[in-house]
Amino acid sequence: MERAVFLDRDGVINDNKRPVNQPDDLKLYPGVGDAIRRLNDDGYIVFVVTNQGGVGLGYLSVQDLENIHHYMMTELSKEGAHIHEIRACIHKPHEGCTCRKPDSGMLTDLAKKYNVDLSNSYMIGDRITDIEAGQKAGTKTIFLGEKHVDADYTTDNLEKAANWILKKESTH
Ligand SMILES: [Mg+2]
Ligand SMILES: [Zn+2]
Repeated sequence: MERAVFLDRDGVINDNKRPVNQPDDLKLYPGVGDAIRRLNDDGYIVFVVTNQGGVGLGYLSVQDLENIHHYMMTELSKEGAHIHEIRACIHKPHEGCTCRKPDSGMLTDLAKKYNVDLSNSYMIGDRITDIEAGQKAGTKTIFLGEKHVDADYTTDNLEKAANWILKKESTH
């Protein structure tokens, strides 16, 4: 079975100080491409699972979201980083779908499609809802932020999260 790292988007890959409604709004954090590439090199499938309720609410279109993600993939590929698939929940916050985090639908669907062993996989996010989605799916969890969330590991950024995963890996 495959091992995977599921990444939240806003606040993990890119700055989330302002809403991202078009490619120009997407400000990638430094070191993100390198972190994803190192995970790829170690054999991890890397996915993005992102709540984009702004689509359902009409702040951006499905096409805008596709343009943003195309831009993101292009920029990351310049650093040799590969994201295998991006899943976005485009439903409104209270629509009752099963994909919006803290629900785990996006993670479990991808796991099924790519034959991923969730217990050997990680969910990385900057909100408690990311951590809850990971726990519900059965992954290990890494919280980016202040240490007040019940995750397996808490750190500042994706680079450090990748370091932790890869170091853990090599001690097996
Ligand atoms: Mg986030
Ligand atoms: Zn949804």
